[in-house]
Amino acid sequence: MAARILDGTAIAAQVRVELAERNAAFASRTGRQPGLSIVLVGEKADSQIYVRSKLKSAADEGMRASLSHLPASTSLEEVLSVVSALNTDPGSDGILVQAPLPDRLGPAALQQVFDAIDPAKDVDGVTPVNVGLLVQNRAELVACTPRGIIEILERSGVEIAGKHAVVIGRSDIVGKPISLLLLHRHATVTICHSRTANLPAVAASADILVAALGRPAFVRRSFVKPGATVIDVGINLVSDADLAKSIFPEGHPRRGLFERKGSVLVGDVHPEVAEVAGALTPVPGGVGPLTIAMLMANTLKAAELRFTKNEKIGSDPDRG
Ligand code: NAP
Repeated sequence: MAARILDGTAIAAQVRVELAERNAAFASRTGRQPGLSIVLVGEKADSQIYVRSKLKSAADEGMRASLSHLPASTSLEEVLSVVSALNTDPGSDGILVQAPLPDRLGPAALQQVFDAIDPAKDVDGVTPVNVGLLVQNRAELVACTPRGIIEILERSGVEIAGKHAVVIGRSDIVGKPISLLLLHRHATVTICHSRTANLPAVAASADILVAALGRPAFVRRSFVKPGATVIDVGINLVSDADLAKSIFPEGHPRRGLFERKGSVLVGDVHPEVAEVAGALTPVPGGVGPLTIAMLMANTLKAAELRFTKNEKIGSDPDRG
């Protein structure tokens, strides 16, 4: 039987309706909209697309969003100084530095910039403080994609407690935080990576399988226990015709898309998995829409927390 499709677009739309109400309540209580500040360095095409969709989503949600777009030649010191100015900007509730930074800034630059963000404004959940709080299960601001995966599971009625969750991928932004969120919800969690032995067999023991490795259609039918819930985090743009044809058989709608456009988005999970999984997130339209919705949710959360904190100490920064 074909897997139930966990429709991330529909779930994100539901989240947005709830956020719009909370945004309006925040605005009438505080006299201002939550503010998201995005920092983009360089001209990388896909980063610009991601940033544009975040800015649009913020505007649609009734938030103020600003972009600091710095040229690729910007020094690390200049990026740090922009972050530092946003940290003290009273109108900015959330700061997101779009990854990656230009290679010329060196491999350690991104973490240095993340380290400089005020944890109270860290809407991407990347500062050491928020990662530490996540480990202790008391984080308010958690990385957006993992948060989005939990929204999909919970809103789709997928039971987590007592289940075996296998996460393929151990990145700071997806694999590790989703493993912790599942653990905090009482799953038994196994984290896999490029050196895991017998990966298909380990994966096939999962009730919930999260694929976050960045390899197109890597997870095949043999990786999946019949009836398991499979979350496909991967976003891979495939432009190789042989690869696209090997993934999508003749007559598959996405094969037709490839033939029209010359490229196609593919997840980390092979489409054949739909024949064995119990539930599956599609790509596109699965985890992706939730990632942006959770960025908006984190921005509102940061704004609410800042406002409550300032009220307690008797200084609303927006009123000087
Ligand atoms: P990443 O930083 O490149 O990490 C990939 C992880 O997968 C690493 O831990 C790596 O293991 C592991 N891995 C790679 N090849 C493997 C293999 N053959 N077998 C087992 N494990 C393997 O990637 P990421 O940032 O976590 O992103 C993962 C995917 O999710 C990408 O396709 C990315 O585009 C997508 N993504 C989507 C969203 C969304 O909103 N939907 C958000 C973020 C990322 P090692 O640690 O051993 O190298």
